[in-house]
Order: sequence, then structure tokens, then C-alpha cells
Amino acid sequence: MTALEDWDDGPFRPEAVTVRVPAKINLSLSVGPLRPDGYHELVTVFHAVSLYDEIVARAARGLSLTVEPLRRDSDVAGVPDDEHNLAWRAALLLAEYARVEPDVRLTIRKDIPVAGGMAGGSADAAAALLACDRLWGTGLRRDELHDLAARLGSDVPFALHGGTAIGSGRGEHITPVLAAAGLEWVIAVYDGGLSTPKVFETCDTRRRRDSREIPEPSVHPDLMTTLRSGDALRVGAALYNDLQPAAIELLPEIGDLLEAGRAAGAAGALVSGSGPTTVFLVDGPVSAAEVEEQLRASGLCRAVRRARGPVPGALVSNVR
Ligand code: ATP
Repeated sequence: MTALEDWDDGPFRPEAVTVRVPAKINLSLSVGPLRPDGYHELVTVFHAVSLYDEIVARAARGLSLTVEPLRRDSDVAGVPDDEHNLAWRAALLLAEYARVEPDVRLTIRKDIPVAGGMAGGSADAAAALLACDRLWGTGLRRDELHDLAARLGSDVPFALHGGTAIGSGRGEHITPVLAAAGLEWVIAVYDGGLSTPKVFETCDTRRRRDSREIPEPSVHPDLMTTLRSGDALRVGAALYNDLQPAAIELLPEIGDLLEAGRAAGAAGALVSGSGPTTVFLVDGPVSAAEVEEQLRASGLCRAVRRARGPVPGALVSNVR
């Protein structure tokens, strides 16, 4: 028998697959009129930033999950380690679709702030899909993974995709945007929560009060042009979020945070999604340090982090 024949003992089945997946922020959020079914059509520009969770999928019997901090100061409070975890549901969905047993031990190493409006749970779900697909050798096509991701939640497809992209519908229709590399961000995670339905409700009430005609949601052409330029000052001026006034009405402190960041020299300041996370576009390391210091000094933040974007979506980073 030759050495080559010796080698051929069936397909390679890894013991462990690691996937790294980024957080997202929203560079714009356009909210359409309230429809009779109580739903709003949205158009957003997603932007993946360099804050990551890592998921390790290990060969095992049965399905189990543990959650641990990726860094000493990462927070994992409130993240479920059972079937309520979106990564668990992702593994089950893939197993059902591919008709395999859901045999995997998942470890989530979190660094994306929890319940911070940065879609950490959705990121973990996307990562679990990718990791289990590789571990189990199910070999799904990209479009199949995307469809499963959309069934798990409206932010999950973007976590697979990454970069900068327009999200429409419930967020599951993703169109890539040509964006220059290298935007620098300071991200302030507010020390408290904001209910997403309440923010939408307040937005509707404000609009009724103003009795303004609400156009269909769209992306402002200005933002598209400036993203191609990569000029922080121009991008900063083009960021927008229709939910921001409502979020500030409910939680005036986030207005104070935006003001503190602007006063410290941020090129742009915005509530991300329905908040309460606020994001600050900075123009270089000096500006980043100044903004970071002022946000920490406000005493209003659970965490202040630096990140850059755009970065790619979920990627297999190790197989053994
Ligand atoms: P989004 O931006 O998608 O609205 P978020 O970033 O505000 O979400 P997440 O960190 O995704 O919030 O978590 C919100 C809640 O979801 C958590 O408090 C937790 O109870 C639950 N959850 C389920 N799976 C996960 C997960 N893998 N990581 C974090 N939270 C999870």
C-alpha cells in the first residue's frame, strides 16, 4: 500500500471550528409611515465594525452551549446558555434543514456588548450557522445559509455578509455598498436599556403631533456619495437616524452623550438603531482619545469602545 492510499480514510471531519463575527452599527435608519398592520418599512445602512464574538463548535454528542467573556472586561450578564440563545437555535435549524443530528458543543466567547443594539445575538447565530456547517460537513451554499439566517432574525443575514450594506424589508434584503475602508469609531454603550417598540411608538406619536407627510423609507444619496469618499467629516455630516429624536425624548441622557462627543470633536454623532448605543465617527487617534475620554467622564456609559469599519462578516478563523 502506498502512502497516499494510507491517507485516504474518508472525508476530513474537524474536531473544532472557530468562527469570528463582528458587531454592527447603523449609519442610517429611515423609517416609513406606520402601516395598518402596525409595521414600519425600514431602510438602513448596516456597517460591520471591529468588535468581535468568537464561536467554537466542537464535535460532541447532543447539543450544549457555554458562554464566556472573550476579554477580561467583556460582559456576558444576561446571555442565556440554553435554547433561548440564538446560536443554539441556529444550530438546531441547520441540523433540521441538512437532516443531520445536532451534535455540537458550542462555546460563545463574547466581546460584543450585550443588549447594546449591536446585534450580538444575531452575530452569534450567524457564526453558529457557519461553524456547524463546517463541523458537520453539510456544505451549504451561501444563499442557503442566507435564507436560514433570515429565518433566525432580521439582523442575522448581515452578520454573515459584513462590510457596509443597505438592509431593506425586515433587514433581510442585503445590498452591498461601495465604501472606502477605514472609518474610525468610538462606541458608547449606555448604562441602561431602551425598549425598541417604545421608541417606534414615540416616533409615531411625534410624527402625528407634527402632522408631517412621511415619505417611503430610503437612503439619502448624500450618504452613498460620502461613503465612497471615505472623508470622515463628510460621512459624519451625512449620518442620520429617524428614530433619534424619539430615543432622546425617552432618554434625554443620550442627547447629552451625543453633545459631549460632538463637543470633544467627533466628526459625526448618532444613535445606532433604536439605541441606546451611540456611535461617534472620529478623524484619527487624537480625536478618538479625546472623544473616548469625554464619554467616560460623563459617567453615563457601561462601556466605551473603539472600533474601525467596515470589516468582513462571519469568517472561519480556525479548523482543527
Ligand atoms: P439587536 O441589535 O439585534 O436588537 P442587541 O444587540 O440589542 O440586539 P443582543 O446582545 O443581541 O442585543 O441581546 C439581546 C438579548 O437577547 C439578550 O439580553 C439575551 O437575553 C438574548 N440573547 C439570545 N442569544 C444571545 C446571544 N447569543 N448573545 C447575546 N444575547 C443573546
